[in-house]
Amino acid sequence: MSQTHPVASIWAATATPAPETPALAGDHRADVTVIGAGFTGLAAALRLAQGGATVRVLDAGAPGFGASGRNGGQVIPGLKLDPDALDAQFGEATTDFVGRAADVAFRLIETHAIACEPRRSGWIQASVKTSHLPTLERRAAAWAKRGASVEVLDAAAMARATGGTGFAGGWLDRRAGALHPLNYARGLARAALAAGAQIHGASRATRLTPQGKGWLVETEAGARVTSDQVVLATNGYTDGLWPGLRATVIPAHSFQVATQPLDAALLAQILPGGSVVSDTRRIGNYFRIGPGNRLMMGGRGSFAEPRSVADYGRIIAALHAIFPQSRTLGLEFQWAGRVAMTPDHLPHIHRPAPNLTIALGYNGRGVALASAMGDVIGAHLLDPSVRLPLTVSPLRPLPLHGLHPLYATAAIWYYRLRDALER
Ligand SMILES: Cc1cc2nc3c(=O)[nH]c(=O)nc-3n(C[C@H](O)[C@H](O)[C@H](O)COP(=O)(O)OP(=O)(O)OC[C@H]3O[C@@H](n4cnc5c(N)ncnc54)[C@H](O)[C@@H]3O)c2cc1C
Repeated sequence: MSQTHPVASIWAATATPAPETPALAGDHRADVTVIGAGFTGLAAALRLAQGGATVRVLDAGAPGFGASGRNGGQVIPGLKLDPDALDAQFGEATTDFVGRAADVAFRLIETHAIACEPRRSGWIQASVKTSHLPTLERRAAAWAKRGASVEVLDAAAMARATGGTGFAGGWLDRRAGALHPLNYARGLARAALAAGAQIHGASRATRLTPQGKGWLVETEAGARVTSDQVVLATNGYTDGLWPGLRATVIPAHSFQVATQPLDAALLAQILPGGSVVSDTRRIGNYFRIGPGNRLMMGGRGSFAEPRSVADYGRIIAALHAIFPQSRTLGLEFQWAGRVAMTPDHLPHIHRPAPNLTIALGYNGRGVALASAMGDVIGAHLLDPSVRLPLTVSPLRPLPLHGLHPLYATAAIWYYRLRDALER
């Protein structure tokens, strides 16, 4: 198992070695300081460094320490909002941007020869409710109208495509696919380093002070970077660095388990086409085949960090319900990570002060989108005529944010109840 990643995930156990990212020491100057080395920060740093900017990236842990190194590796374009609603709210350029988000991730992988097991074998959005099928059919048709290769699947087609039970139908989006997220994060870091960026792990930014037209960033260990621009890309791991930012999102945990390797007979039944799947429940599950032919199941857990195997009970129950044939398989990995939820289910871009750009709030679907977001933020900082894909919004701290574990837990129970009552 990799000693450089603190989470006992299937990804850490199967990862390529981490690039060298020594902690920041001393005083430095850069054009741009990027705080957070997940997909958002790394894609921004890569684009900036390629454009000739001097870049320092700081992460409290290491590249891929946060959600980017722990997720399900499902590369899904789009947002919770459907294309017509996106057109109406933001314009067609935004719809086009989110529709091409998976293209950006797969292009970065190809251009920089990132060894992260990319597989463009589609994403299935599965429904256990017949009442959700008309929405899925409309969604598939709306993306097809915009050129996406999609297919609507009935219950029999779902059973064949997934090998799982209980699906009323779904749709397949061939723009999507799978990858090894920690290797993707490390590969992006290596590409940014090769382009000239400096990346520092174990370097938590603890203070952000305006200096001239730019910023002074100080770390926990007292190192300093002055720069013209700062990009803050801390998503579910956002701390108190920028006042009020943490209270604009609800950091929730997503939990995953992975079984022991499937034998040839199970592999022929379960996801034989290599698609990745997530379902349409409000508190939904997602699954795929992962490294070593292990079956992975994920879902929203509690709002607290998992403390014992018992905390994974719901995910394991979902695994056994969807795939009764997996009941005899042992579980080899259990882990969790933090996503950032927003009340409008959209990612947010903020500019609360000159030359400070913040992007966060991917609502558990950021492999493709955070890559595309970081990339476009980098392009925009190099050339302001490049349009940002979403309206820059003011910080809107959620009322009673300190109580979020309580009301968020209540919301989870409420949504689970609605999921259970719906047909
Ligand atoms: C278990 C799980 C499963 C998921 N599955 C999927 C999936 O299958 N498909 C999908 O599309 N999305 C998925 N997601 C969501 C996706 O992983 C995230 O949306 C995406 O990785 C966010 O990237 P990011 O760079 O914005 O943030 P992160 O990757 O979370 O990075 C934030 C970084 O900021 C650093 N940081 C925080 N504060 C500071 C500070 N003060 N100074 C320095 N560094 C700091 C942290 O150490 C961290 O590394 C999943 C998430 C989780 C947790």
